[in-house]
Amino acid sequence: MSTADPRRLIPRTDVLLADPVLRAAGAELGMPRVRSAVRDAQARARAGEIAPDAVAEVARAEVARASEVPTTLRRVLNATGVIVHTNLGRAPLTDAAVDAIRVAAGYVDVEFDAAGGARSRRGAGALDALAAMVPAAEAALVVNNGAAALALAAIALAAGRDIVVSRGELVEIGDGFRLPDLLEATGARLREVGTTNRTHLADYLGAVGPDTGFVLKVHPSNFRVDGFTRSVGCGELAMALRQKGIALVADIGSGLLQPDPALPGEPDATTTLAAGADVVTASGDKLLGGPQAGVVLGQAGLVERMRRHPLARALRVDKLTLAALEATLSGPPTWVARVLHTDAGEMRLRTLAFARNVGVSDADVVAADGAVGGGGAPGVALPGWAVSLPEAYAVPLRTGTPCIVARVHAGRCLVDLRCIDPADEPALAARLREIAEGGR
Ligand SMILES: *Cc1c(COP(=O)(O)O)cnc(C)c1O
Repeated sequence: MSTADPRRLIPRTDVLLADPVLRAAGAELGMPRVRSAVRDAQARARAGEIAPDAVAEVARAEVARASEVPTTLRRVLNATGVIVHTNLGRAPLTDAAVDAIRVAAGYVDVEFDAAGGARSRRGAGALDALAAMVPAAEAALVVNNGAAALALAAIALAAGRDIVVSRGELVEIGDGFRLPDLLEATGARLREVGTTNRTHLADYLGAVGPDTGFVLKVHPSNFRVDGFTRSVGCGELAMALRQKGIALVADIGSGLLQPDPALPGEPDATTTLAAGADVVTASGDKLLGGPQAGVVLGQAGLVERMRRHPLARALRVDKLTLAALEATLSGPPTWVARVLHTDAGEMRLRTLAFARNVGVSDADVVAADGAVGGGGAPGVALPGWAVSLPEAYAVPLRTGTPCIVARVHAGRCLVDLRCIDPADEPALAARLREIAEGGR
């Protein structure tokens, strides 16, 4: 390569991202979109399609085009400290997942074997990635969401039969949707055992019999029962049921695939299967950190019955979801995992530096716990810090551009940086200053 190679003149990513126009676009469109425009423009320069000194302009033109994309969805800066916020779309996707969606948007070999020229297993890449993450599972299936995974288990494995479940686990998952109603809508009968606070192994064993489709364990992911309580763990239950040839299905909810020391009470697929559950169901867009999806993992025979059930076709996911899920599983740590493991000391320094830089009066840095949210790890406080401002900041933050959602607590507006991308801090700081100066 000669020293005069024009490719050497291609501007670096950090230089391009400092461009005022691209920075402003980042506040509106999100940094993943801007980074991807920058990468595309650099790639075109590398391929000799455009001159190196045109890279910034081409990237600017691309983000300008993207900002006209016809969606009424608006980007939100999540300053609530709640990581998996259902009202804000749960898990933000990784850059890798966004790139995968862009590829999948065109024609792709989602169920085509290019070598053989014939149909192939749909979404094999995503299923293989799941299998690699959870070797304890013999088989995997992906459906539309966690509720669909559970409904499909009920229909395929227990229609017209009993699902035996503890009264303490019949949860409402949000927006008025209740798991018992969902299960009964499939044609399975619910056989409730135990009481709200206490269920014993004998309660389960007294209820199972020839009419049992399966026994269900549901992780009560959005509430906690304290005090005089007793529940039966998956291991103990599975061992007793195995002798009777009855399957145990566990809805673990938030989709942790491996144990996470930061969330000791949160069940994960690997441990639950190792304890003896035959099938595990979970969401893809909570702690798993990917797109909306329902993940089914477990015994090959049972998962195959679910896959072959006619209703599976009505619950199947599209190529975009499969692409994003595969990229999430096989790519770098997810946004959810990264912010979940944010160090409280670092958070404090970051928040202090941010507050100093914003420089508005009546702003203090206060200890403020974050939360997993989205029906996950209830009662687990994630130690952190926030900028505390007068409550009057909340409405203009929400109604300005970009839309910023903070937490209102005890008459103060708490701006928590945990779920804010550092690249978005300048936009956030600028809004706070505008509001402080009396602007809207
Ligand atoms: C969130 C949740 C569901 C529903 O999952 P979706 O992906 O929202 O459909 C079901 N069960 C449990 C235990 C949950 O936490």
